[in-house]
Amino acid sequence: MPRSPFVVDIADLEVAGAARPERVVTPVEWILDYGRVAADRPIEAELLLRLVPGGLLVEGVLRIVAEMTCAACLEPYELELSVPIDATYEREPGEDAYALEGTQVDLEQLLRDEALTALPLVPRCEREHPRVVTSEGRGLNGGSSPDESPFAALREIIDRD
Ligand SMILES: [Zn+2]
Repeated sequence: MPRSPFVVDIADLEVAGAARPERVVTPVEWILDYGRVAADRPIEAELLLRLVPGGLLVEGVLRIVAEMTCAACLEPYELELSVPIDATYEREPGEDAYALEGTQVDLEQLLRDEALTALPLVPRCEREHPRVVTSEGRGLNGGSSPDESPFAALREIIDRD
C-alpha cells in the first residue's frame, strides 16, 4: 500500500523542543466549497515540526493554487494562496488540536482545513465588473415614471411567462 504523502514520522523527535523542517509537495484532489485545488498544481507545505510536552507543534506555510468560480461574472479563475499554518497535535486532543497517535502524523486533515478556511466566501476574479444594471429608466414600455413601483418591471417579466 503506498504511503500517503501527508504522513510523516516523528520518531526522530525525542525530547520536547526538538524540531525539524518538513516539506510536503503533492497533487491533491480536494473539492472545496467554492472551487477546487487545481489538479495539475501540487500543493506545497513548508513546515516546522516541533515536539512539545504532550504533542507536536506544526508551523509554517501552505501554498495552493485554487480553481475558483467568480461570484460576479461566473468565469473560472485561478487563485494563488499562501496560508499560514499554526496548529497543534496532542496525545489527548482538546478542542483546537488534532490527534497524535504513535509517531506517525497525518497532515492532510490539517492542511485541507486550512486551505478551506483561507478561500474567500464570495470569490471575485480580478476583472472589472460593471455595476449591475437595473431596469430603472429603461422600462419595457419605453420608459418608466419615477412613481412606478420598483417591482413593475419584474412583474412584467413574470407576466410574460
Ligand atoms: Zn469575475
